[in-house]
Amino acid sequence: MKRRIINIVHSKSKFSIDTAAYFKKQLLAQGFEVSDAFNHEAELIISIGGDGSFLRALHRYDFPDTPFLCINTGHLGFFAEIDPDEIDTFLEKYVSGDFYIEEISPIDATVCTRDNCIDTRGINEIVIKGDKSRTIHLSICVNNHLIQRFSGDGILVATSTGSTAYNYSVGGSLVDPKLNILQVTPLAPINTNAYRSFTSSVIFPTETVIKVNPEYRFENSIVIVSDGREYRFAGITEVTLQLSQQTVKMLRLKDFDFWSKVITKFL
Ligand code: NAP
Repeated sequence: MKRRIINIVHSKSKFSIDTAAYFKKQLLAQGFEVSDAFNHEAELIISIGGDGSFLRALHRYDFPDTPFLCINTGHLGFFAEIDPDEIDTFLEKYVSGDFYIEEISPIDATVCTRDNCIDTRGINEIVIKGDKSRTIHLSICVNNHLIQRFSGDGILVATSTGSTAYNYSVGGSLVDPKLNILQVTPLAPINTNAYRSFTSSVIFPTETVIKVNPEYRFENSIVIVSDGREYRFAGITEVTLQLSQQTVKMLRLKDFDFWSKVITKFL
């Protein structure tokens, strides 16, 4: 008989630990194996906590191919599919195959310095911003066409999934996840006689390649932030951003509706 392995990852709160213990007990009773260490042969990763717990697991395990189910234990929980009191109903649906997998595209960034190039990935966004509280100046090219010389705090490049996160707080648009786009949202853009920058978000289609070149004086004062994780490199000359070929898989129940979730969480 085929082994059915489930990974459970959870935040440190008592509620998350108790929820994980209950879920594990119910899974074992159904004949599943539950792995305490991360097992790459698992068919499902259950993330218990908030969006932060999901983002931590995603980055720690390097964007695994295994689908995620997120359970919210008292945070915003935008990625969450169920609440802890829905575990039993969920299990019935899971065992009978009454669910589907939604594939969402992360954003890939290749950060090139004078010495080498380093890849990083984010599911919500990649932010390029000044590290030293100074205005930074960036040239932004889209598919090799210069579209603007940006001046301000920085830019945030969000996926459709990330449109509801940091992007929304800084005035970006909410995007229906059926549209697989990249959204460039300025952070405190300067738009004066001295410097001209777009003051609204700009939205680009799936295949777009965005190249960002800092002015040479800022090569050492830029920080790259991927889903809240900061990376500092000396001598950054170019950052290339595009939607990833690899997807992240989210388990969805049949009644999942993005806009109902937006209304519940934001209004
Ligand atoms: P965090 O400070 O705990 O997260 C900030 C908030 O963003 C939390 O309430 C989190 O939900 C929520 N969130 C994360 N992804 C979301 C999404 N796709 N849609 C809606 N809300 C979302 O930091 P973290 O847990 O490490 O998460 C990093 C993320 O924080 C970044 O990807 C960035 O989008 C976001 N962030 C937001 C701001 C801002 O809004 N001013 C500033 C910096 C970073 P939970 O409460 O469920 O964890």
